[in-house]
Amino acid sequence: MVGGGPAGLMAAEVLRAAGVEVDLYDAMPSVARKFLLAGRGGLNLTHSEAPDQFVTRYGARQDEVARWLAKFGPTELRAWVHQLGIQTFIGSSGRVFPAEMKAAPLLRAWLHRLRQAGVRFHARHRWCGWMPDGRTLRFLSPSGDITVSPDACVLALGGGSWTRLGSDGTWVSLLQARGIAVQPLKPSNCGFDVAWSAHLRERFAGNPVKNVAAWIEDADRKAKPREGEFLVTAHGLEGGLIYALSAGLRDRIASIGSATLRVDLLPTRTSQRLLEDLERPRGRDSLANHLRRRCGIDGIKAALLREVAPPGDLEQPAKLAALIKSLPLRLDAPRPLDEAISSAGGVDFVAMNDGLMLRSMPGVFCCGEMFDWEAPTGGSLLTACMASGRAAGRGVLHWLNPPVDATAR
Ligand SMILES: Cc1cc2nc3c(=O)[nH]c(=O)nc-3n(C[C@H](O)[C@H](O)[C@H](O)COP(=O)(O)OP(=O)(O)OC[C@H]3O[C@@H](n4cnc5c(N)ncnc54)[C@H](O)[C@@H]3O)c2cc1C
Repeated sequence: MVGGGPAGLMAAEVLRAAGVEVDLYDAMPSVARKFLLAGRGGLNLTHSEAPDQFVTRYGARQDEVARWLAKFGPTELRAWVHQLGIQTFIGSSGRVFPAEMKAAPLLRAWLHRLRQAGVRFHARHRWCGWMPDGRTLRFLSPSGDITVSPDACVLALGGGSWTRLGSDGTWVSLLQARGIAVQPLKPSNCGFDVAWSAHLRERFAGNPVKNVAAWIEDADRKAKPREGEFLVTAHGLEGGLIYALSAGLRDRIASIGSATLRVDLLPTRTSQRLLEDLERPRGRDSLANHLRRRCGIDGIKAALLREVAPPGDLEQPAKLAALIKSLPLRLDAPRPLDEAISSAGGVDFVAMNDGLMLRSMPGVFCCGEMFDWEAPTGGSLLTACMASGRAAGRGVLHWLNPPVDATAR
């Protein structure tokens, strides 16, 4: 087992429960550092929505991920957490969190159980690829280079974001050198660069934009707005609503060089009603007062309007109303992969069989974020990582002990 994130730990658990000797190697001084970091945001473990709805979060990969979730979906994940002595609750958005909204107690209980079961942990062991035989694993360890020849090996090396927590994506070239199809790693659930004016950056960076709806401008498609909030940063935009749209924004930038995010600053008010409100006589009121009193728009929302409005448009109620209902923000580039919550790209599904074994490297399995799938935040990342870890564990068991009728064939 190489990589001690949630995917690798799950694979280890399945294997050890079946009596298989498990050695787990990780490059870092301790395992599951990204999992612990996720705990700072409350640790959104999974989601309570119906299974057929939940699986749509995996977009183009939903059929593949559905196979993992069939054995270990959100319900099984919650039951598993409860078995560790950690209670969970469903938040108002349907997201599932541990009662304490922390990862540390859960991880502590999990690692204790794995150690008790006999999983051997080897920290500070960086996997550096294979010996020329293609089976023997090479590690850089505190005591120098070592080699290991397991009967089977599960790679659970994560994606390529937050490299300081261990998952640095260096495995990509190691697998490609063996002819494994790997799609380039790309930022997913990420922020974007916007060329803000110095005024907006200096005065408003760090401000949340709440209770808005947003969609990606696309001449070919009528996109459905998503409601939520985001953050204006010195570089551009971050936050939940942006992450939810990030795959589409990223792909649009890749194909045409930029993407336009449309923001409805007042989603609860119809265009007609808004226009009527804005057309009311202003008297001696300034535009800023008029906007605040008639529409409740001030602060960062007013600043965004001023940032993008063509000269004179804010003085014309019809144009102002149109801007409030569909403010265009031009996004120039995704923020770097290292800052992203997760990675898109990774080991291509064509490279694996149903047991998550690499077709061209019998006995080598993969799981977790290192596969070519992506999903929005909301618990879908951890759920699929853990479910794929269990699937890889089952795949190894099948490989080590094929059913009698399969060997007879
Ligand atoms: C800030 C933040 C918040 C998040 N919050 C949530 C959330 O609330 N809910 C959610 O579902 N998801 C969340 N995620 C995403 C989630 O944490 C990841 O998708 C998940 O941890 C991936 O699991 P994994 O086991 O595939 O990989 P990782 O957790 O990345 O683990 C990979 C392991 O492999 C080791 N490794 C890598 N290369 C080598 C090597 N060459 N040799 C040896 N070891 C190696 C690493 O040290 C690491 O321990 C969050 C992510 C971030 C960054």
